[in-house]
Amino acid sequence: MNIVVCMKQVPGTTQVKINPETNSLVREGIENIINPFDTYALEEGVRLREKYGGKVTVVCMGPPQAESALREAISLGADDVILLSDRAFAVADTWATARTLSAAMKKLASYDIIICGRQTIDGDTGQVGPELAEMLEVPFVAYVSNIEEIKESYLRVRRMVEEGHEIIETSLPTVITVAKEINVPRLPSLRGIMKSKNAAITTWTIADLNVSPDMVGLAGSSTQVIKIFFPQRVHRAEILEGDLDTQVDTLIDRLKGANLC
Ligand SMILES: Cc1cc2nc3c(=O)[nH]c(=O)nc-3n(C[C@H](O)[C@H](O)[C@H](O)COP(=O)(O)OP(=O)(O)OC[C@H]3O[C@@H](n4cnc5c(N)ncnc54)[C@H](O)[C@@H]3O)c2cc1C
Repeated sequence: MNIVVCMKQVPGTTQVKINPETNSLVREGIENIINPFDTYALEEGVRLREKYGGKVTVVCMGPPQAESALREAISLGADDVILLSDRAFAVADTWATARTLSAAMKKLASYDIIICGRQTIDGDTGQVGPELAEMLEVPFVAYVSNIEEIKESYLRVRRMVEEGHEIIETSLPTVITVAKEINVPRLPSLRGIMKSKNAAITTWTIADLNVSPDMVGLAGSSTQVIKIFFPQRVHRAEILEGDLDTQVDTLIDRLKGANLC
């Protein structure tokens, strides 16, 4: 079975700074980690390979420094890793990100199941998985908490919904996003760590993908960040003057003024 895992490298801290001129996160000088939700995606991919055979390919779109996340993926059991890195891919919104990933999937040609995390801890949109499925014109299932059965081109999964669980049957190839309830990711093995040190990291640039430059990166993004800022919480306290009736009247006025009653 050809299993593809989408993995993003994200800042490993919430203490990121914002560049007010470019309205982007300052990523230099901060520790980067594998998006925690993607470790569940990788673990599930490795478990599927152990059960059904085949190979696990991890695909990551990011700057050259994302190579370290891919080496870690090898230590955790990935067979092949591909870094999609090119200036043309930079400053992408989720649609342009999915476009680049889908172009990579098309180049891979053969995939049975594409596994994504349910969301990232930086962009946090949860949009890339469904967008990728749409672009590849394959089925999509979100919040998968268990892969119950795979048989030839048939897949049965359990997914989490607000009211409980749903069992979904679909055909392969398909894209799924996984919830963290699906497994407990393993730690890297010593053999995996040794393998990851010398493993070749395949890098694909825009020249390797059948995609036009105006469909990826900033040029392919239909949304633009106008302003980015940390929300400021303003706490205000006021002691109301007068006797009890006056205080109650003032309080009601204040609540009405704030559209709270
Ligand atoms: C207008 C705009 C401008 C932006 N500019 C920048 C910028 O300058 N620099 C920047 O770093 N980010 C930028 N972003 C954020 C960028 O769009 C997101 O990081 C990216 O599209 C993924 O979205 P997300 O993080 O919400 O992923 P989600 O949709 O939450 O991710 C779901 C899953 O998709 C997969 N996935 C997501 N991203 C990747 C990836 N890159 N490679 C492989 N798999 C992936 C993972 O499996 C992940 O768990 C911008 C976003 C917008 C809207």
